[in-house]
Amino acid sequence: MKDVPARRLLLVHAHPDDESINNGATMARYAAEGAHVALVTCTLGEEGEVIPPGLAHLAADRDGGLGAHRIGELAAAMRELGVTDHRFLGGPGRFRDSGMMGTEQNHRPGAFWAAGLDEAAGHLVGVIRSLRPQVLITYDPDGGYGHPDHIQAHRVAMRAADLAADPSYGTGAGAPHTIAKVYWNRVPRSVAEEAFARLRDTASGAFPGIAAVDDVPGVVDDARITTEIDGSAYAAAKTAAMRAHATQIAVDGPFFALSNDLGQPVFTTEYYELVRGAPGGDDGVREHDLFAGVPEPAPAPGAQT
Ligand SMILES: [Zn+2]
Repeated sequence: MKDVPARRLLLVHAHPDDESINNGATMARYAAEGAHVALVTCTLGEEGEVIPPGLAHLAADRDGGLGAHRIGELAAAMRELGVTDHRFLGGPGRFRDSGMMGTEQNHRPGAFWAAGLDEAAGHLVGVIRSLRPQVLITYDPDGGYGHPDHIQAHRVAMRAADLAADPSYGTGAGAPHTIAKVYWNRVPRSVAEEAFARLRDTASGAFPGIAAVDDVPGVVDDARITTEIDGSAYAAAKTAAMRAHATQIAVDGPFFALSNDLGQPVFTTEYYELVRGAPGGDDGVREHDLFAGVPEPAPAPGAQT
């Protein structure tokens, strides 16, 4: 049997591209350092707007086909990050992109937003109990910015973490497993403000406008940040992964834009708020490793001892 790395990180995201924008540097760094990095994406992002005119026909309000196309974009992005374990919740297409809040797509059959919480979480429990990650990363309760699929991804991830640890839950789904540390994606307000100031000073005109700090998901007061991961050595991998999501993201140097064409900074140090588990650093000092303080890991199933 092949060795399973001792350090195992699980990320739960709503759409293909969210992982590269939020965590691309973190994922590339931990993969390069030999951790097992696993991504679960909850939908195919079928409702995304398409940036390149040549691919505009893929949009849901035209011919469709964007979901299938984005499976390929995600695979290409994961190659750039060195991440080999990426899956869709319940399998590709099991849950559909719910569109923006308040649209009719929210309640379409199969929409992730309309899915039963425990049914959706059940798929993730199976992943957690087989992979046995020490660290989980997902969004805050607002999904970072209020998108229904991001809110639902948060709910499903947190619920699955509870169920996976519960010995009375679904014994057929593998032995119970408690995730030692759970993090939410964050950006400290001061970092966002400095980055936007730099963007305003240096913007080359590649994008017609500049986004606002509050357009960035997960911005909070600095005091709430518990952890910062310096992924600057993996900046090129992160931007390459973002470029791989070509229907969704336009990259220009250290900046990027979504379909609204408003420039935003690419963050290569990524920030987190620890919401479950004990911090590994000294009191009041930010962690610099997601696994800090995690007890010496027990071997995963299949690991050689
Ligand atoms: Zn998203």
